Formats: sequence, structure tokens, C-alpha cells
Amino acid sequence: MEFNYNLPVNIVFGRGKVNELGKETAKYGKKALIVTGRSSSRKSGLLDRAVELLAKEGVDGAIFNEVTRNPLISTVEEGARIANVENCDVVVALGGGSIMDAAKAIALMAVNEGDVREYMYGQKSSDKALPLILVPTTSGTGSEGNCYSVLTDDKNNDKKSLRTPAIYGKVSIVDPEIMVTMPKRVKASVIFDAAAHAMEAAVSKKRTPLSDAYALYAMKLIADNAENAVNDEEINYEVWEKITLGSMLAGMAIGCSSCALPHALEHPASGLKNIVHGEGLAALTPAIVEASWESDPERYAAISALLGGNSALDCADSIIGFLKRIGLDVTLNDLGIEESDVDWMVENAFKVSIGNINNHPKEFSKEEIREIYIKSL
Ligand SMILES: [Zn+2]
Repeated sequence: MEFNYNLPVNIVFGRGKVNELGKETAKYGKKALIVTGRSSSRKSGLLDRAVELLAKEGVDGAIFNEVTRNPLISTVEEGARIANVENCDVVVALGGGSIMDAAKAIALMAVNEGDVREYMYGQKSSDKALPLILVPTTSGTGSEGNCYSVLTDDKNNDKKSLRTPAIYGKVSIVDPEIMVTMPKRVKASVIFDAAAHAMEAAVSKKRTPLSDAYALYAMKLIADNAENAVNDEEINYEVWEKITLGSMLAGMAIGCSSCALPHALEHPASGLKNIVHGEGLAALTPAIVEASWESDPERYAAISALLGGNSALDCADSIIGFLKRIGLDVTLNDLGIEESDVDWMVENAFKVSIGNINNHPKEFSKEEIREIYIKSL
């Protein structure tokens, strides 16, 4: 057995822990760029609360609220420019996966020369970035526990991950209490994103005993609690704690093991049509598992069992059942993808996601991948 493990994030987990934002941020700087979305953190009052918490510890905040779903490279460039204009020495991300991903890339580009694409495609690398404090407001992406930032290039729709140890959070404040205000459909899609991370890490060719431990436990937490988390009218904080923990562990698992084919095929879809990541995964995962289970029957059987199935053979059906229970049984067609988009997505998957394609337990030809897209329409 051989593996390498390095996860230099101080994770502060628990209900009410967001109150430590000021204290934690003050360790790293005096002027924070607060990266957030256009409205949700403002509406929920979290943005005002964050500014106050920072001020109390003597940290000034400059607000950058331009980040959208499937964050764009142009937004990252603008954020990095503002971080410099405002002389920020620390970056605080307040939001879901898109916000954290954008904040990570902003922290990198604020102190490095060149184009962010060069860092995404490995032509340039750097071990420096502004210190990052991550405060997730959705549980799903797991970005708080890894060094990935997934960005979409507004010039050509390429959606690809930037990976460098420089963009691990210094601190991730994971507070289940600030995540419960999500609408039902958002809850379902972020939870399925987390489930996909756990399932893909569990079958990944790069899996290690540590990613296995995270992935399989994460899958159990998610499988056991997702229905209640999505469907219960009354918020049950114990359920949310488990979902939040599962989602964080799943994010840490892909940090070690990478993702596999579902993420490889989803990125072209959401890069092209700006669809919701978790919904794209929901549309694609069953057909991929159906075509893959024989390559790793033991793992697919374990996943199926956690979702109430009997064997690897019915793993895809178990996933479909799970998606129905959380109201997320969708097709690519429902999400606005047409058959005429398939050829572009096949080519694009091999361009932007070759690492995750190669990481899948089964090897597929372009023609077979085309069939998976068609089946998912
Ligand atoms: Zn994901």
C-alpha cells in the first residue's frame, strides 16, 4: 500500500461557528475581499453579519458580489483586479460552490502574473495566493475541503478545474445552521453533487484507503439523510449536520482521488448551457453507472446497498430511486440540452476532462460516450 496525503485546511465545524469568522480572518489580514453572489447572502442577512464580525476584529471588508452560477474566468479576472485596487490581504468566500471556486481563483490571480487559463492547463504554476477563508452556505460542492476551483471560460464555454495546493482554504468555517435556507430544489441538487463526489471517489482509479474511508462514510451519511433534508417541512438540524459532514467528506475524498466519468461528462453540459451542476449529474449518472458497474462490481454493489439496492447490477436503478425520492429525476433534455449538442459535448469532454475520463474504472470510446449522452437526453 502506498499513498500521499496532505490536506492543510483548518476545518472549524459546527452550528454557530460562523461567529468565529472575524477572529479567524484577523489571523491572516487586515483588509478582506468578501467574495459573494449578487443577492442570496445579502437577503439572508449573512453578508451584513460577516462585515460586522470582521469589523469587530479590526478587519475591513471590500465586497465583490459579481459571482454567478458556473463562475466565469472574466469574473475571476475582475475580482483579482479589485483585490489589488482595494489592497486586500485576505479573501473571504461567502456562498456556495461557485462562490468558493471563484474566490479561490481570485486569491491566486491577485498575486500571480499571467492568464488564469495558463494555471488551469498547467502551463504555469505557483505556490502563492492570498490567504483564503471559506464559509460555505450550501452543502454539496465540498470545495471547503479541497484545492479545486472549477471555472468556465466565457470565450469558448470550456468548463475546467484549476488545481493547485496554493488555493486550499487556510480556514473553512462549516456551519450547518447557515445552510438550511436553501430552496428544496437547490437542496436536492447540491446533495446529489455531494453523492456524486462520494460515488466517483469510491470507484476512482486513484482511490486510496483515506479517500475510501471518506467516500464510503460520506455516501452513508448522504443516503441516510438526504430524503429528510430535502423533504421535511420542519428543519432538523441533526439531519443537516450529517448532510453537511457528508458533503465535506465527499469533497475531501475527491481532493485525494479525483472525480470520474459523471463529472467529466457533466462539465461540458453545464459549460455549454449554464445548467445547475447537481442537476446535470443527476441526468447523467444513471446511464454511466448502467454502462460501468461490471468494471467494479464490489464498489457498485456497496453503493447500491447504501441506497437500498441489492447488488451492483441494480446500482443504476438504486440511484434513479434515490433521485426520485429527492425530486431530482431529470433528463438532459429537461435541462435544455438537445441532441444537436451531443457532438460538441463529446469532443469537449475529451478536451477539458481527460483526467477524470481516464480515472473512471471503465474505459469508453468516443462513440460509447456519445451513447451515454444520448441515453441521458
Ligand atoms: Zn461536483
